[in-house]
Amino acid sequence: MGVRVVVHEGSRRSLVRRLLPVALAFAAVIAGLALLAPHLRDALGTAPGSPRSGAATHPLYYTGPVESRCALPADREADVTATLRALIPCLDRTWTAALAAAGYEYEPPEEVNLIDTPENAGCGTEDYDWAGIYCPDIHSVNVLVEDDWSFTSMFTLAHEYAHHVQEITGIAAQSGPEVFDEAWSRRLELQADCLAAVTLRGIDPQGLMVLRAHSVEDENAITQRQTHGSARNSAIWIHRGQDSGTIGACNTWAAPADEVS
Ligand SMILES: [Zn+2]
Repeated sequence: MGVRVVVHEGSRRSLVRRLLPVALAFAAVIAGLALLAPHLRDALGTAPGSPRSGAATHPLYYTGPVESRCALPADREADVTATLRALIPCLDRTWTAALAAAGYEYEPPEEVNLIDTPENAGCGTEDYDWAGIYCPDIHSVNVLVEDDWSFTSMFTLAHEYAHHVQEITGIAAQSGPEVFDEAWSRRLELQADCLAAVTLRGIDPQGLMVLRAHSVEDENAITQRQTHGSARNSAIWIHRGQDSGTIGACNTWAAPADEVS
């Protein structure tokens, strides 16, 4: 039960600026996922994401709207890396305040790598199909910097930061009688999408709208869906995070199965 999940992000690299509607291609690889046989699952009882699970009743869900105070470059497209570099301390400040509201002390990631090749990431260097990756064991955030639209990379960075928060607050803790399967992964990923929207809603609401409206699934979408949830559900959770601005709106762990499919 102690197998760690290494979370790989879907590539969102197919954005073509001159063609609208914008197409966001998703592709994902997931490794190290613990899959258990159904009979074993039944014997263990508690399903991941059930209201009994600790992740569904976390103190963070009872805090108010998250505030983000950011100073990003006026022209975000001129230098996407510089834009992301400016977003990093903003996300740290945002999460420091948000966690303090629930009595948690925030610790920044050990490293944030803005890279142009997966080989320079803190993990996932064997795979070449992610746009961002969080390495829970070493608290390492990694984002492949994409040149076509800064918001794509900003969202990926915010999503990986959300994984860091899930990790340091115990939401992603893999202990107890839960089953860590693809359904567990989808709740984790859709929550990270929602939390990314919570932290970016005050920075670029229009970007979030475009992301939601134009997300489409590509031919690799079956893998993506199994581990990250459908594009439709992703858009729904992003919308919830953007609308409410609260962590409580991102409680995928208490959501019915069809909202995390
Ligand atoms: Zn993720």
